[in-house]
Amino acid sequence: MSTQANPTMNFKGIGASPGVAVGHAFILDRKRMRTPKLRLAEAEVEPERARMKTALEQSDRQLAELKEQITRTEGHDHALILEAHRLMVHDPMLVDEVDRLIVGDRINAEWAVRRVARKLKHLFDNIPDEYFRERRSDVDYVADRIVRNLMGQAVDEEVELPAESIVVGHDISPAEAALMARSGRVAGFITDLGGQTSHTAIVARARETPAVVGAGRVSEQISPGDLVAMDGTRGIILVNPSPEQLALFRETQRRYHESEQLALRTKDLPAVSVDGFRIRLNGNMEFLEEIPSLLAHGAEGIGLYRTEFMFLDRKTVPTEEEHYRAYKQVLEAMGGRPVTIRTLDLGGDKVPSKVKHEREPNPAMGLRAIRYCLSNRELFRAQLRALLRASAHGNMRVMFPLICGLSELREARSELEACRTELSRAGVPMGKRFPVGIMVETPSAALIADRLAQEADFFSIGTNDLIQYTLAIDRQNREVAYLYKPLHLSVLRSIQNIVTAARSSNIPVAMCGEMGGDPIYALVLLALGFDELSMTSGQIPVVKNILRRSNRTEATELLKAAMELTTAEEIERYIRTEMDKRFTNVDP
Ligand code: PEP
Ligand code: MG
Repeated sequence: MSTQANPTMNFKGIGASPGVAVGHAFILDRKRMRTPKLRLAEAEVEPERARMKTALEQSDRQLAELKEQITRTEGHDHALILEAHRLMVHDPMLVDEVDRLIVGDRINAEWAVRRVARKLKHLFDNIPDEYFRERRSDVDYVADRIVRNLMGQAVDEEVELPAESIVVGHDISPAEAALMARSGRVAGFITDLGGQTSHTAIVARARETPAVVGAGRVSEQISPGDLVAMDGTRGIILVNPSPEQLALFRETQRRYHESEQLALRTKDLPAVSVDGFRIRLNGNMEFLEEIPSLLAHGAEGIGLYRTEFMFLDRKTVPTEEEHYRAYKQVLEAMGGRPVTIRTLDLGGDKVPSKVKHEREPNPAMGLRAIRYCLSNRELFRAQLRALLRASAHGNMRVMFPLICGLSELREARSELEACRTELSRAGVPMGKRFPVGIMVETPSAALIADRLAQEADFFSIGTNDLIQYTLAIDRQNREVAYLYKPLHLSVLRSIQNIVTAARSSNIPVAMCGEMGGDPIYALVLLALGFDELSMTSGQIPVVKNILRRSNRTEATELLKAAMELTTAEEIERYIRTEMDKRFTNVDP
């Protein structure tokens, strides 16, 4: 296809899986078929209900089969998504409501399914939490399947993808994304809908396939076969680029590959500064599928395992056994490397939907994280018991999120000890005692870090929240995103205080918030004196490369000069300029 035949267009979406890809568009035509709308005669009501019952059974069977397939090839976590879809097929909110419309309003099943789906999606619309909002597309996916079955249309057809396809869709279901990625013919994914935590994004990251999601109405504007250049790091999409633009893209692609090669070459090298200061680089993870990529990029352990993620997409709270299985798998996959498991950071809006939970006016400051766990002891104990059992399978550390004071830490620890005693009496096997640390992510914890350091085995700074609470800016609110400044003097002082406290008590200190993996802050973090940084897989080689070329004494001078300045803008400008002078070629 000629690059000049069609007009050049560019789009901006959310960079959801890093990497650069150039290929031809494969448009996934999931346009909804027209739904027939019919009024039923009285005699037609019962046959219609029977038709609906058959379509539900068919849908359930198909989803069970898909789940089987995906469990075999993609692992348990993605299969959980399909299990959630199966639950939806049986959900009274869908099934009973459709039945009510067929019987009461005498409308045909297809129409009834669409009406109920619209209503259900509406319920998701007003939820501030992005992860839950994303679940609207699951409702569509399930409704679409039921309607297709009602109409006798084909479902789950295998698509014949040409090699190096850029798959473009309004939305791509997790099953589709996983199955297509497995074919090895996808160069990249682009979707109109979705955010960082949508399933396409998760599958793409696990597969290391570049993805741009939430790109508006691109699927309607790109034609099959169009030449597409995309940057999954920056969220950029260029359709039918000019030869000059294409050359620039190829250059970015070349640099990205170079940095990936570097990742492979430096995978086993330590992140140690020129003057011998060693920092461990760990990975952040939400799903088991992310582990191979983390290891390939040189993660020395897991610095943050966000355990709540695998449980958000379901209606019931996880059982002890489910927790246990998940942790055991991660510990075994990491083969003796340290794995830091964070206890559930649920609450606010991150709550499995069956758990009764009052909607709070200000969820970020509400019953969240450790507060939520301490007021839902049964749920907390299931996780703690599972962690104790899992500790037999690897090198585990546990940390509690959102600790504000010593009482919370003591209370959480004593619950852990109570579980240990219980298991030990029952003769349940457990590993040796493991380090129990805290996330330092509130100004309160930062201010009393010296006291907390006397009772915590380690600190891990969660800058996403620490910055939110220190600067009083809601991290979910786009209107105030411009105020989110990791180099604000108050944030730097706060971090310095935390590190000093950890040093004085001789406990390790890590950073696992986004700031820890952004290469622009690498020198500042080296100067601050971290033992560990934890980040996404793609960031590890870049940060390592900077650290290996830096000198801690010089970094300390730089930080000192930066902290003489006052406004966040001044400090940021200064650091960027200094970083640019030293490292022109670090960022892929
Ligand atoms: C943080 O707050 O920096 C953090 C790592 O935790 P989360 O982003 O999950 O709140
Ligand atoms: Mg946090």
